[in-house]
Amino acid sequence: MKKVGFIGLGIMGKPMAINLIDAGYNLNILDSNKAAGDLTPKGATAFSTCKEVAANSEIIITMLPDSPEVNEVVFGDTGVLAGIKSGSVFVDMSTIAPSTAREVAEAMLLKGVDALDAPVSGGQVGAETGNLSIMVGGNQAAFDALKPLFDVMGKSAVLIGDAGAGQLTKACNQMIVGMTIQAVAESFTLAKKAGVNLEKMREALLGGFAQSRILDLHGQRIIDRNFDPGFKLKLHRKDMNIALMAGKEFKVPLYGSALVASHMDAALAAGWDEKDHSALALLMEKLSNVE
Ligand code: NAD
Repeated sequence: MKKVGFIGLGIMGKPMAINLIDAGYNLNILDSNKAAGDLTPKGATAFSTCKEVAANSEIIITMLPDSPEVNEVVFGDTGVLAGIKSGSVFVDMSTIAPSTAREVAEAMLLKGVDALDAPVSGGQVGAETGNLSIMVGGNQAAFDALKPLFDVMGKSAVLIGDAGAGQLTKACNQMIVGMTIQAVAESFTLAKKAGVNLEKMREALLGGFAQSRILDLHGQRIIDRNFDPGFKLKLHRKDMNIALMAGKEFKVPLYGSALVASHMDAALAAGWDEKDHSALALLMEKLSNVE
């Protein structure tokens, strides 16, 4: 089996890497936070620079917070580009700007490396259970080479188009998720203040047209008062920005997304950066003077 480099072992990266190890892949790992995801007890080899990870791997996967971190990991003095071998495949599974994904792909091509942008949806649970939905931009040959690994980490992997197409798709995904969480948060706040039982309401709504995974999972989180991440609010705000920037670039008004992004800013101002994005409900409660 091919040697796989995995950089970024946080909430998502760690379980994805574990699934690859359990499937028999040899992993070379790195996270700038040494305490995050030490998988050496499971047989992974830890390196101290991304250059070394790349030099010792044929496939290099990154799962990092945002574009600046991906730029640092790829283009830094001891970054992936400095060590990667021609013929390797580079796969960034973080959610970042489509423009950054295209720049990375162009730089990799100059080194004889195919690059894929392959952001995911499905959250921590999807990462742990290997049920992610993977949205891919890049070429068919690289996609085919990565398909066995995608099949370990996810339940579906779709090649959507050229470099950046995966990230643009993920931005759309985040618009839908953000607006749906806001819809659930508003509905639950209204129902609570009107004296309606939320458990019963959720159960009833899950049987009808309003049914969604957000209503199911985030609705339950709101009822349980469980705002531990999950998906950090600050990361979702980052994604809404990616969407809004794309809207600006292509001159498409994104009314609902802009509103939700502002709502997120108010939640961040309350100091809830590290809370799960379902904490949008906390803000609705605060504004409505109800818990
Ligand atoms: P996280 O903050 O838990 O993990 C990111 C990891 O990257 C951390 O362990 C951090 O130490 C490491 N890191 C940061 N800079 C680094 C650097 N320069 N070199 C090496 N390591 C570095 O974030 P996460 O929740 O795992 O999310 C990762 C990406 O996946 C983000 O782009 C996020 O938007 C996306 N995503 C998250 C979820 C979710 O539910 N958490 C779902 C889908 C997509």
